[in-house]
Formats: sequence, structure tokens, C-alpha cells
Amino acid sequence: MAEFDLIERIRSRVPAREDVVLGIGDDAAVVRVPADRQLVVCTDTLNAGVHFPHDTAPADIGWKSLAVNLSDLAAMGAQPAWCTLSLSMPADDPAWLDGFLDGFLELAQQHGVALIGGDTTRGPLSISVTAHGLVQAGCAVRRDGAQAGDDVWVSGTLGDAAAALAMLSEADHAREASTSSPANGRATQTTPHLQVGVEPTVVTRLRQRLDRPQPRVALGLQLADIANAAIDISDGLWSDLGHVCRASGLGAVVELDALPSSPWLMQGVDADVRRNFQAAGGDDYELCFTASVSVRPQIASIAAQTGTALTRIGRMVRGVEVSGVDAGGGRWQPSRTGWVHFSD
Ligand code: ADP
Ligand code: MG
Repeated sequence: MAEFDLIERIRSRVPAREDVVLGIGDDAAVVRVPADRQLVVCTDTLNAGVHFPHDTAPADIGWKSLAVNLSDLAAMGAQPAWCTLSLSMPADDPAWLDGFLDGFLELAQQHGVALIGGDTTRGPLSISVTAHGLVQAGCAVRRDGAQAGDDVWVSGTLGDAAAALAMLSEADHAREASTSSPANGRATQTTPHLQVGVEPTVVTRLRQRLDRPQPRVALGLQLADIANAAIDISDGLWSDLGHVCRASGLGAVVELDALPSSPWLMQGVDADVRRNFQAAGGDDYELCFTASVSVRPQIASIAAQTGTALTRIGRMVRGVEVSGVDAGGGRWQPSRTGWVHFSD
């Protein structure tokens, strides 16, 4: 199947959006931007084996490649509107493409996002999505607005995706080490890190967090009026909250016991490892934001309204870095702070 057949396969499945003047098919797309809005633009690339395990289902790759971008728009308090898709694939595989589009368009439809263009090439599997969103002029939530004394909040729970990834790599190592006992769906214990005999349902739920992150779009829109600073957690809490600290010229103190855990993480991972996954694992795609102590009641009602758990995990302080404190007041730092490309 040639490039233009693949593009036609994509085009035929893309729903219309009223403000798309010209979508897929010309040299570039044309969209209408309302006069009182600003355009918010972000791009994220997903490479096979780096941003998703090689065995990831095509639909999950499609979902995630859009989700990570919508998560960036959410962190800015933007309403997603349009996106483009740059697809590098090793073979002209229509079945793979259909699966990919199932996941991609499912999420696009949930948020009313129109796919308006892209590029299709042959090469190693790599997906690059650019997303465009809208904010009221001057109302984007930035990293540099945090104030000393602000509460630090996080949405949902942290650490599930990192746990899933660690279990996958342990299972891989176990398979390599022992060809006579192939993995049977249970994460095999090969290091003291993860709990022995984790239930398959727990592994499945954790894996779902890795493969199908839920961008916090509705929450981000509500936060536009409330938050002083926001970021989405892609590389890890320490790393990403660290960006807010640097941009705002402040430090942050995180109460370790306040970090929210899913029941699956509690079941699947011991406490000390769990803490590292939550602080530095990454791939959470939750929002971390800072807000004045005075808006706690509004934040409680946003949590109720959006059906999103919002947890106060610490506060912004004078200083330059993120530090953790345990229940006894002891200082703690994760064993690594987060994912950094080109760091090894
Ligand atoms: P050009 O050579 O002018 O860049 P292309 O042949 O690459 O045009 O693309 C033709 C049309 O198909 C363009 O409108 C482009 O945006 C769209 N397109 C190409 N690949 C994709 C894709 N993966 N997803 C969405 N639209 C695509
Ligand atoms: Mg092109």
C-alpha cells in the first residue's frame, strides 16, 4: 500500500470540525482561530522501545501518542482543538494503521480534536504529534507563576506506569535468565524490588496506566483561573516539579506520605520502591500545580466537579530544589530524579 493510500485511509476516518477551513489533502491545513483566543501549540514524539515497549498494541500507541500531547495542553489550561500526525513506520501495514487509528481517534473524539494533517514516511517506528489548543488571551497556566507558600497539588495517583515498566523489564530479565520457565502472565520476582507473585489483575491495571494515560483536560481548563503554575508529570514528579521550581525561582517541599497511590500500586510494590516510582518514575501524565492556600475550597469543588482526585502533596518554599520529608521530618531524595534523554 503506497503513501497516498495510507493517507487516504487516515483521511477517510477523520471526523469534521466546524472551524477547520481546510483539513487533510492540501499542502497545509487552515483553521479559524477566534479573535479573543491565543493558540497553544505543543509537540511530542514517541519512539518504539523508548516511549513505549515494543509489544505495545497499535491502538495503545495511537492513544498514547495523542494523550501525551493533550496532557501538555491540559497543563497549560488550554482547550484542545486540532492536531497533526507525523508517522514513520517500517512497513506499509494497513492493519497496524487501522489499529493505531482506533486508539488515536477514540481519544481525539473524546476531546473533539480534529486531525488536520501530517506526514507519512517509511522508517523506524516513530510517531510525532503536534497538538493545538486555545486559551483566553493571557490566561495560559505557566511554569513560572508559583508563589512562595503555595500549596503543591497533584491529580490522580502516581507511580503506576513506572511500576508497570519495571515489572515488564523484570519479566524480560527472568525470561532471558531461565528459558525453561517461560513467563506465564505473572510478574516473576527476580530482584528484591517488586512483591512476589503479584496478581495478574494488578499487573494488567498498572500496564493500563502505562499504555492509556488519561490527559487531565477538564481539570486543566478549570485550573486556568485558580492555579499559579502547572506542569504535567511525564518525566517524574521530582524532575517536573523541579522545572516549576527553577522557572519560578523557588523550592518545593514534598510530604512523602501524602503522595497518592492506586490500590494496585499498594498491592504490587513494596513501600520504599513505591516511593521511588512515585517521585521519579514518570509517565504518569497527571497534573502537578501550585495554588494559593486561600483557594483550597475551590480546588475541592473542582475535584468533585471533574471527578478527579486532587491531593495536596506539599508547598512551595524559598529555595532552589525539590526535597522530600517523611512523617518523622527526615529528608529524602529519590535514587534518580527522573527520565532524561541522552543522560547515559
Ligand atoms: P506534501 O508532500 O505537500 O507535504 P503529503 O503528501 O506529505 O504532502 O501529504 C498530503 C496531505 O496528507 C497533507 O494535507 C498532509 O497534511 C496529509 N497527511 C500526510 N500524512 C498524514 C498523516 N499521517 N496524518 C494526517 N494527515 C496526513
Ligand atoms: Mg509532507
